[in-house]
Amino acid sequence: MPRVAFLGLGAIGTPMAKHLARPAFDLAVWNRTPSKAEAFAAATGARQAATPAEAARDRDVVVTCLPVSRDVEALLDGPDGLLATMPAGSVLVDCTSGDAATSRRMAARLAERGIGFLDAPVSGGVVGAEQGALTVMIGGDEATLERVRPVLESFGKKIVHCGGVGAGDALKAVNNALLAMHIWGTAEGLVALEKAGVKAEVALDVINTSSGRSNASMNLFPDRVVTRAFPRTFRLALLDKDVGIAAELAREQKIVAPLLQLTSELFRLAHSELGEEADHVEAVQVVERLGGAMVG
Ligand code: NDP
Repeated sequence: MPRVAFLGLGAIGTPMAKHLARPAFDLAVWNRTPSKAEAFAAATGARQAATPAEAARDRDVVVTCLPVSRDVEALLDGPDGLLATMPAGSVLVDCTSGDAATSRRMAARLAERGIGFLDAPVSGGVVGAEQGALTVMIGGDEATLERVRPVLESFGKKIVHCGGVGAGDALKAVNNALLAMHIWGTAEGLVALEKAGVKAEVALDVINTSSGRSNASMNLFPDRVVTRAFPRTFRLALLDKDVGIAAELAREQKIVAPLLQLTSELFRLAHSELGEEADHVEAVQVVERLGGAMVG
C-alpha cells in the first residue's frame, strides 16, 4: 500500500486528501491549524502528524496544497521540516497553484538529496475534487510522474504532462487568468445590459447558446451571481495570486500582453477592496459598484 502524506487541508486540499485515505493508501496528514487535521483524521482514519517532518517520515509520496509556492518552500527546512525526514527516492508532489521559479528552486534542492519533485496544480474546483475528477497539470520528469500516477489518479481524472518543472504552474496560471477575464468581462457586459433594460436571465439565456459563452456565463453567473448566493469555494485572494503569476510569466517572456496586465491590476483592486475571505466570484460586486447596477 503506497505510503502518502498530505499537507494543507484547505478548501480543495481536504476533498483531495479524502481520496488518499484507507483502504487504498496509508495516509498521514498535517495542517498548520491542527484542529482541522484532527477532525480529518477522526473522520477518515488517517494519522495526524504534529509536524511536516513527522508527516513525511517513511512516506513514498508527500503531497502539498498550500496558497503559494513560498509557503511550501518554507516547510522544507528546520528540524520540523520535510527535508529532515523525506527519504531518498520519495517524491514531493506540489498541488499548490504555484510559481515556476520557486518550483524550480525546490526541485533543485530536493534533487540534491535524491528526492523527486513535480509541480501538479489542479483545476475543477471543490466539486471536481470531491468527485475525484480534477485535471492535474504536471511539470517535471515523466518517469517521476509514472511513479506517483496512482496517487494523482485518486483525485484526478485527467493527468497531463505539460513539460519540465514549472510548466504545470505556468499553464494553471494562464487558465486562471482566463477565468478571471471571463468573470470580469461578463460582469461588465451584464451590468451594461441591465442599465440598458435587458435582464441578466435573458442575456445569459442568449449568450449561453451563442459565441460569447464561457464557464463563467454558463455556470458561475446563473448559479452564484443571479441567485446572489456567492458561495465561498475559491478565495479571490488566490485568483488574484494566479493572475499575478500569469502576468509575471508574460513579462518574463517579454510578451506584449496588456489584457493580462490589466486583469492582474483589476483583481488586485478587487482583492484589496473585498478582503482575504471573499470568494473569486464576488469580484462581480466591484464591477456592479463601479457600474451602478446589479446583475440579476
Ligand atoms: P485555502 O485558503 O482554503 O486553504 C489553504 C491551506 O493552506 C490551509 O490548510 C491552510 O492552513 C494552509 N496554509 C496557509 N498558509 C500556510 C502557511 N504559510 N504554512 C502552512 N500552511 C498554510 O486554500 P485552497 O485549499 O482553496 O487552495 C490551496 C491551493 O489550491 C491554492 O494554491 C489555490 O490557488 C489552489 N486551488 C484552489 C481551488 C479551489 O477551488 N479552492 C481550485 C484549484 C486550485 P490553515 O488551516 O491553518 O489556515
